[in-house]
Amino acid sequence: MKIPFFRYEHVFGQQREEILSAMVPILERGSFILQKELEHFEAKVAEFAGSKHAIGVADGTESMILALLAAGIGDGDEVILSSHTYIATASAVHFVGAKPVLVECRKDRLMDPDDVRKKISKKTRCLMPTQLNGRTCNMDEIQAICREDDLILIEDSAQALGSKWKGKCAGIFGFAGSISFYPAKVLGCFGDGGLLFTQNDKTAETLRELRDHGRNRDGLVVRWGLNSRLDNLQAAILSVKLKVFPQEIERRRAIARIYHKRLQELEDLTLPPGPDEDTDHFDIYQNYEVESGQREKLRVHLRNKGVGTIIQWAGKAVHQFHGLGFDNVKLPFTERFMERCFLLPMNTSLTDGEVDYICEQIIRFYGGES
Ligand SMILES: *Cc1c(COP(=O)(O)O)cnc(C)c1O
Repeated sequence: MKIPFFRYEHVFGQQREEILSAMVPILERGSFILQKELEHFEAKVAEFAGSKHAIGVADGTESMILALLAAGIGDGDEVILSSHTYIATASAVHFVGAKPVLVECRKDRLMDPDDVRKKISKKTRCLMPTQLNGRTCNMDEIQAICREDDLILIEDSAQALGSKWKGKCAGIFGFAGSISFYPAKVLGCFGDGGLLFTQNDKTAETLRELRDHGRNRDGLVVRWGLNSRLDNLQAAILSVKLKVFPQEIERRRAIARIYHKRLQELEDLTLPPGPDEDTDHFDIYQNYEVESGQREKLRVHLRNKGVGTIIQWAGKAVHQFHGLGFDNVKLPFTERFMERCFLLPMNTSLTDGEVDYICEQIIRFYGGES
């Protein structure tokens, strides 16, 4: 069998005709920027997530920059985020002139609230948890910290559209929540794309201005802004994909269920929380990140059996990249995790047979009978 880590061509192939028939009229009309298909998608995805507002932007990284700008965060401010995240979370903070302060993750791989408490200073203005791998943090704990220390909450929910904490979707808990539509994300477009959720009318207005050169509805420039709009074509494609998205989430959860059932007994392998383990969490499995003490050997074994795996972010947490200003930061829990973690295939192109095959190869690696 040949099971690549991700099948980029599947993103189109799966809904080929529907996608093409959504695109052609837009191409024929020549409606490319800030048109009705974008408004339609924004309304649909807001409804899906239970958000008052959704604002399409250029990508997930810029969406965080816009959120920070709208919150007035900049020079002299500190923003706390987990080091086990994509560099983009920290870059967004860097590019508004603030300082990213990195904290540990805990067993479920998400931001550790105890470490957050230790790292709050007089300069801390904002907490930016990453809703990683399709799982939402325990938001009771996160929101309690924000209340106690008067911090602004911005969620990096790039990996977590549709994931929930106590029935409420990632991205809608705080000041704003950021989403990415990078092709390999749970809801992916055909290039770069992103989105912001907010529950506040005024913030929504500000974000709409910020993404479009600081212009208001009348086209007048009322603040400094950027060009960070979600293309109309991408929005139309995303609307087609959003229709099947709830089934796709269920499919991801079903795959996680198979992995969990078949691999949970293996001593060396640490799995992410199972889909039915804790009903406060509704995980959507953007990724299936496992840990092993024999990571390299196991990955080579899987590669020889035709199974592609990857290590997220070149195997480094944010503070482990040199020259970014974190050379004195030590986060032992995260560092140990980064030596052991890798991703098994997790996407909607996988058949049950393929998932079974992957499990069998892993069980055999550990000397078991499958
Ligand atoms: C993908 C991702 C981003 C960035 O999104 P882009 O759309 O690629 O800019 C940010 N944070 C996390 C955790 C991500 O996985």
